[in-house]
Formats: sequence, structure tokens, C-alpha cells
Amino acid sequence: MKYRNANIDERGLLFGKWCSMPGVWTLTNRWQNFMHLLVGEEKALLIDTGYGEGDFRQIVESITDKPVMVVNTHGHFDHTGGNGWWEDVWMSEGAVSGARVPFSEEQQQWYDAKPHKDYRIHLLKDGDIIDLGGKVVEVLSIPAHQEGSIALLDKTDRLLFTGDEMESGQVLLFVRDRNLPLEQVVSTHKRNMEKLAARRSEYDFICPAHNGTLLQPDLYLNDFIALDQELLDGTAEIQPDTAGFGFAPNPDTNDMFAKMGPKERAQHGQASIVYLKKEE
Ligand SMILES: [Zn+2]
Repeated sequence: MKYRNANIDERGLLFGKWCSMPGVWTLTNRWQNFMHLLVGEEKALLIDTGYGEGDFRQIVESITDKPVMVVNTHGHFDHTGGNGWWEDVWMSEGAVSGARVPFSEEQQQWYDAKPHKDYRIHLLKDGDIIDLGGKVVEVLSIPAHQEGSIALLDKTDRLLFTGDEMESGQVLLFVRDRNLPLEQVVSTHKRNMEKLAARRSEYDFICPAHNGTLLQPDLYLNDFIALDQELLDGTAEIQPDTAGFGFAPNPDTNDMFAKMGPKERAQHGQASIVYLKKEE
């Protein structure tokens, strides 16, 4: 069966969208990735582009006709897959090597069909300011889950967009360079959380890229800092499973993380982190 609109298939609409405050939109796909769109007076800022299915640009342009600056929170394909709908994309240097690497054959096909597969990459770094006209956004470097992660602080709406570095489900700390020891990644994550906590007076809510938006910061920041410290001290409370959120703990299943080996999940209050289990 043929569908005239690339964003409608047999399951219905591919994307959902809602406005949470004036000029602040969240877009979602069927994997429940959260992409965010900040609409200023002169231009709009799109934070992440999903896996690249359907016509994501059409959804964005159904919200605003302003020029759109596309930014990736980090270089994983569930955040960069739709980049090729635009000619120019902004990301940090550490995000570049992963940005064009699909996780599956299906995603590769979506990517190959994009009009700007060779989109130009512009680099963002810690402290950069993006002025949308009536909305000002600051770039904060927070690499732990991925080497290129940035947070985006919308100083006008008092929102902090944290990508995959902080969310209500579980932060994955096994998907970075496998040669890095867990202790190094965890201590970097802790430092990043402390950096965000130090800016706490500048935002009211956290908007992650998966599992929950908007989040009240005090519910999460201190718990993540405490959990990182417990992981470093070897005192973290290990949970019996990875609590759902889309993948299984054991390597005998078919999900994309299974082949990486058995994982553990540690929790402290609202904070939850999944990492590769140490070999005995
Ligand atoms: Zn990621």
C-alpha cells in the first residue's frame, strides 16, 4: 500500500509533537526519542534529529517557517539519523566520527535516501552562545556516555537539554570507547553532573533525549552525583535487571546491546546507570 505522506504508514503518524511552553516544542518518534525545537524570533534551534525515518523536516516545518539551526547533543545515530534533511548541522568535535554511522541496515537505507547525505558539519564547543532572537542558548560540554556530548542551556526559558547524559530511565555508560576503564567514564560523568549542578540557578527543568521530559532537576542531579561516587567506591546498589526501557540485561537476546556482553544496573534514588559487568 502506498501512502502519500511520508510520515504516515500503516501504524499511523510516525511522529508526535507538543508545545510545552511558548516557542518550546518536543517531537517524538516510535522509539520515544525526544527531539526538541526552540523557536526564537529570528531562527529556530532543532536539538537532535532521531533515527531518520519518514520526513522529519516536514514535521519541523509544520511548526515553524524560521530558518532552522540543527544541533546534535552527541554522535549516536538515534540523535543524528535525520541530519541529512538539512545542508548544515552543528555538533561538537567528539560527535563527528559517530554521526554518520547507522546502527542497522534499515537506518542505513533511510540515511542513503536523504537529500543532504553529505551535510556540512560545523563545530560547537563549551561556552558557545547561540542567539535565536529573544532566546539565548549556551553550549556546555559534558562527555561521558559519548565523547561528544553537549548539554544545551536555554537561558531564556530556563531549560537544560541533556541528551543521553542524564535522564529518568537509565544512563548508559557502556557505549563509549570500550578501551576506557569504567572508573574513568564514571568520574567524568560525576564531574559533568557537578558542572550542571553548579549552574542550577539558571534552569528550572531538565529535558533529556529519552525517558522523561520535563524533569525537576533537584530530583536527579544529586542522585546522579551520589550514584557516580558509589560506583567509584564500589558501594553502588546493584539491581537485579535493567528495568526495561527497551533492552535486556543478558547477552542471549537479539537487541543491539546484547553482543556487548552482560550488563549491570546500579541505582540511587531516581538516578540509574547501566554499565558492562566486570569480568570475574
Ligand atoms: Zn547516545
